[in-house]
Amino acid sequence: MYLVSINRFSVLQIFNDPVHGHIELHPLLVQMIDTPQFQRLRYIKQLGTKYLVYPGATHTRFEHSIGVAHLAGCLLKTLHENQPELNITKQDFLCVQIAALCHDMGHGPFSHLFDGMFIPEVLPGNIYVVLLKHEQASVDMFRCMRKKNGLDKEMERYGLNLPEDIQCIEELILKGQRDGQWSMKGRTEDKSFLYEIVANKVNGIDVDKWDYLVRDCYYLGIPCGFDSQRLLKSARVCNVNERKHICFRDKVADNIYGMFHTRYTLHRQALQHKIGYIIDVKWDALVVADGKLSPDRKISDAIDDMLEYTKLTDHVFDQILNQSDSNADLAKARSILQDVVNRRLPKFVGEARLNEKELKVPYWCNKTHLLCVKAFFSKKAKLHNAYMYINSELLCPP
Ligand SMILES: [Zn+2]
Repeated sequence: MYLVSINRFSVLQIFNDPVHGHIELHPLLVQMIDTPQFQRLRYIKQLGTKYLVYPGATHTRFEHSIGVAHLAGCLLKTLHENQPELNITKQDFLCVQIAALCHDMGHGPFSHLFDGMFIPEVLPGNIYVVLLKHEQASVDMFRCMRKKNGLDKEMERYGLNLPEDIQCIEELILKGQRDGQWSMKGRTEDKSFLYEIVANKVNGIDVDKWDYLVRDCYYLGIPCGFDSQRLLKSARVCNVNERKHICFRDKVADNIYGMFHTRYTLHRQALQHKIGYIIDVKWDALVVADGKLSPDRKISDAIDDMLEYTKLTDHVFDQILNQSDSNADLAKARSILQDVVNRRLPKFVGEARLNEKELKVPYWCNKTHLLCVKAFFSKKAKLHNAYMYINSELLCPP
């Protein structure tokens, strides 16, 4: 890491990232990075247990979050330079980049394994499981980070307007809203496009995905045909159904297909790897050990106490594996993890693919000067909500 002094109050830090190259971040973001709550992400693997199948997949939420903050800044810069009439302010830049930086702070040990398998098992019906998942935990951690490190004063020093900018950041982390009456409090409706940058609820095309697709492929050793720079350069805000949405030039439609196809390939090839699944099932060691590792606290209690959650990372694996407690449950949990380490895994018998009857052939339609792309990989891809513009002069009058 290099330090370049700009003036007495601000220091520009440059991070050398294997995926994006040299990344410059605002000093306020660097102050957030240098807190225990953010540093914790160094110990949360991005792909959970997949490193036990793909040896290179040891990258963490730490570098992913920095990458997302970088891409969020790049996308905003493109929009701001090409469309000054959007009136993207310095505060908008900071809010979106902070939300991008903090969007995954709520992940538990081994990322989705925690909120996808562990918590539903030990706390069935809990509101965290039913509604909130890691996004709410990210907001809780963001609040804890601000409070414990006196960051509100720093945020004001850099020109943020509190409390509305904090509200905006939290809404951005919680994914904003899809349609209907405008209910966001942090920004008025004329800034609706800001809510599609970090976590896009409308069509899933966001900088979070742009970073993790390229990064995951890089560390898994899987070729990645997706080029986020091309999408980024063609992004433009257009009025669609009386709301400002981020749209992409029709020429990059193939890149959008490429993005969802890369996601599909990543899931099929790596994230749904059969041995990976078998190892994930072995993670009931965490369930067995819950409430036994510490006499007065359960692992699952940490979701209600962010100071405890700050200490809860992938290290829990070693904690269970290396304890020598004679308690029957802990011995059982230890034995399960020893099986993983020594590769004593159940044999894979077979798999069944889902019925693909519902998948439709892709087609183009030209409605109200907008091209709609129909999803053909999965309904989840939400490609049908991706708006493309044909001619910026015609479609996006100033
Ligand atoms: Zn993410």
